[in-house]
Amino acid sequence: MSTPHRYRIWPADPGAHLFEVRLTVAEPDPEGQVFEMPAWIPGSYMIRDYAKHVVAARAESDGREVELGKLDKSRWQAAPCDREVTLVLEVFAYDDSVRGAHLDATHAFFNGTCVFPAVVGQEDLACEVDIAAPELPIGKGWRVATSMRRTTAGEYGFGGYRADNYAELIDHPVEIGELSIGEFEVGGIAHAIAIRGKTKVDMARLCHDLQTVCEQHHSLLGTPADLDRYLFLLNAPGSGYGGLEHCWSSALVCGRDNLPARGDEEVSDEYRTFLGLVSHEYFHLWNVKRMKPAAFTPYDLSQETHTGLLWVYEGITSYYDDLALVRSGLITVDSYLELVGRTVTSVLRGGGRRRQSVEASSFDAWTKFYKRDANAVNAVVSYYTKGSLIALCLDLKLRSETDGRVSLDDVMREAWSRWSAAGMPEDGFEKLCAEVSGLDLEDFFNATVRGTGALPLEALLKTHGVEYRLRRSAGGKDKGGKASKDGKLPSVWLGANLAARGGKTVFTAVHNGGPAELAGVAPGDEMLALDGLRIDISGCEARTRRYRPGDRSELVVFRGDELVTLRMRWAKAPEDTCYLELAESPDAAARREAWLGH
Ligand SMILES: [Zn+2]
Repeated sequence: MSTPHRYRIWPADPGAHLFEVRLTVAEPDPEGQVFEMPAWIPGSYMIRDYAKHVVAARAESDGREVELGKLDKSRWQAAPCDREVTLVLEVFAYDDSVRGAHLDATHAFFNGTCVFPAVVGQEDLACEVDIAAPELPIGKGWRVATSMRRTTAGEYGFGGYRADNYAELIDHPVEIGELSIGEFEVGGIAHAIAIRGKTKVDMARLCHDLQTVCEQHHSLLGTPADLDRYLFLLNAPGSGYGGLEHCWSSALVCGRDNLPARGDEEVSDEYRTFLGLVSHEYFHLWNVKRMKPAAFTPYDLSQETHTGLLWVYEGITSYYDDLALVRSGLITVDSYLELVGRTVTSVLRGGGRRRQSVEASSFDAWTKFYKRDANAVNAVVSYYTKGSLIALCLDLKLRSETDGRVSLDDVMREAWSRWSAAGMPEDGFEKLCAEVSGLDLEDFFNATVRGTGALPLEALLKTHGVEYRLRRSAGGKDKGGKASKDGKLPSVWLGANLAARGGKTVFTAVHNGGPAELAGVAPGDEMLALDGLRIDISGCEARTRRYRPGDRSELVVFRGDELVTLRMRWAKAPEDTCYLELAESPDAAARREAWLGH
């Protein structure tokens, strides 16, 4: 058995958002070939059941219809045939996220997990892929961007592509449409960014900055032997944010105006966020794409796959994403410290950090982190944000306790050399840290990874010339990272998050033990009046400033269509907003320079 599987994908009906997918198997299972669609996509730990988007399925052989039965939610079986068998699917594609597939008259995008079934039992065979053009007039001027290896297709063209096996096939997202393409090299390796749609972007600057970020990561971990190309696929709509990592590419979403215009020289907050996203997804090409938890080696895409290590893969990647920006000089030290202050703030503002450890959050990502309910703020901690702060603490601890001899960089280099080709065992990372540093880190990991207490950030930052400061929040738009401008901060809080929804002000989260919860507010309640006066989200902050701890108020809400009057007692606002400042001590400044590379 060595004839490659032949896949063909065609934007058959862009108006109805339907792809036609044909899969021909040269030597089907004599018992009847089974085909299976993945239930999830690597990098996004939630069951998505991609087979549900299959609108119609049939099989044929030698021009004759072959009986095709459904075995379960994701699998089909064709009747036995002694020649090649072709599975034909119609697949609905209208999910415009990095995890989905999307087709309309303006473009096509797909992940292989959404459109390509696996040939069960023959997943190791090579796959030839024909990406076919839609029927004119749709598709005029469209180009194809994917990291899949070309065979008969021209550069950025429709036609033949190839993957070594099914796992590789579904690791190459494809964008088809009017594309703005920028190309650059990193250590002699061809890199490109393909942006969907019409953009007025400073492509030269963008390529220069991406190259700078990528080079920074190569200098840390070295270039993987099989990294011979890399592609950033970017969808830049009016607003949005997201990314998904792959071995030779990443799919990204950011707001159109976050990208630098020609003539811009500043790094705006929004562009800094975009650079952090790019840096994050690129770092993953080492950390989680090639170096994986043993539980993902190989991926079982039919069901949830549990690991307590997502904090290592997402948290450490989140630590290095912004760190690479400051180390490479794309952002200043002050700008970096602002980002860290914001991350601390976002962790402090979630009561879930007191109830769930990052190890538990990793393990239960499938049903908790990815399926947040109304209580998530109280019950779920992010293994991204808290994970990145654990990585920060670990890095600073290693540096200060070994007198600068060992850092997290050394641990990551050793982890990469050890597990780039074999899965990392569940206890592997913690043991490696102790081994590389010679330190006893058991208490540290028990407290930070399996515990729910405060992280030792203040003391560790101090050893590196950074002061950790806390203050009260100035209001809903205050993300932290900076000192208060005028020091006039509200002295009380509601203990709830509000959002404007359809012209209404709605309680989206209610914090355990806060004034709103004690008064009886429930998530989903619509806020109507405070002390007899109408109140909405825009006026809430100004009104809040007039109260002091211990004051009593009457709050009127709608719960569903029932009017509810609640008695509330205001409480002191917590110091949940962090900012960091440079401390001038020559020793600590030298350590800070060794850490941040300035
Ligand atoms: Zn990530």
